[in-house]
Amino acid sequence: AEDLMIQAEKMNVVGQLAAGIAHEIRNPLTSLKGFVQLFRSGTVPNDKFLNIMESELERIDVISSEFLTLAKPYNVDFSPVDIQELLKNVIALLGTEASKQRISIDTSFLNETIIVDGVNAELKKVFINLIKNAIEVMPDGGTIKIIVENSEEAVDISIQDHGIGMTDEQLRRLGEPFFTTKETGTGLGLMVTYKIIDHHHGEMKVKSKLNEGTTFTVRLPVIT
Ligand code: ADP
Ligand code: MG
Repeated sequence: AEDLMIQAEKMNVVGQLAAGIAHEIRNPLTSLKGFVQLFRSGTVPNDKFLNIMESELERIDVISSEFLTLAKPYNVDFSPVDIQELLKNVIALLGTEASKQRISIDTSFLNETIIVDGVNAELKKVFINLIKNAIEVMPDGGTIKIIVENSEEAVDISIQDHGIGMTDEQLRRLGEPFFTTKETGTGLGLMVTYKIIDHHHGEMKVKSKLNEGTTFTVRLPVIT
């Protein structure tokens, strides 16, 4: 009876996820269909319409590629990754976006080289997601801290923001597909983040205080 219950629960999860994906893809599709009808009835496409259409297409694209990340086999391209080098690249990548919002990114790195066995592109995605989220919750600017620390046979990477923080309810729902509190968020970033960390045999901890800020700490096994 217990096996049956687990089976039923799994079906439920799959069903809910399928419904979620269908729903999220349907919204932009409905909007795109509307534009096609509009143009067919004689309205001339202008920049404004085309921009909306483009962002609706972009949304469908993002949702599909995030779910593709979940489906990909991970153990194929594992190789040694210099994690602090990777962090520097990600920070350089997001630097412009951050400084536009008057956010500076402070780092506290270790002097030694820390090597993780992993998939470079996927680990990059983890830190892009986490640092982007930190930037997005600090509309008034400030400092984001990225701290790298040794812990036995592993490395801890913390991303600390002084943003809006989270409620307990929000904390519980982190990683749930489509859970977002942002107007144009997808709510897929952390789902993918957790999945990637799991495939790297790591873990992620979150500490958050409403109106004070949030710290995400990623622990990854290191090659010694
Ligand atoms: P999205 O960024 O598209 O909303 P994510 O999966 O990246 O999707 O994040 C899901 C939700 O988790 C966010 O909408 C927000 O409510 C919460 N969250 C994530 N990171 C932070 C953070 N650093 N501070 C406060 N809330 C956060
Ligand atoms: Mg996000």
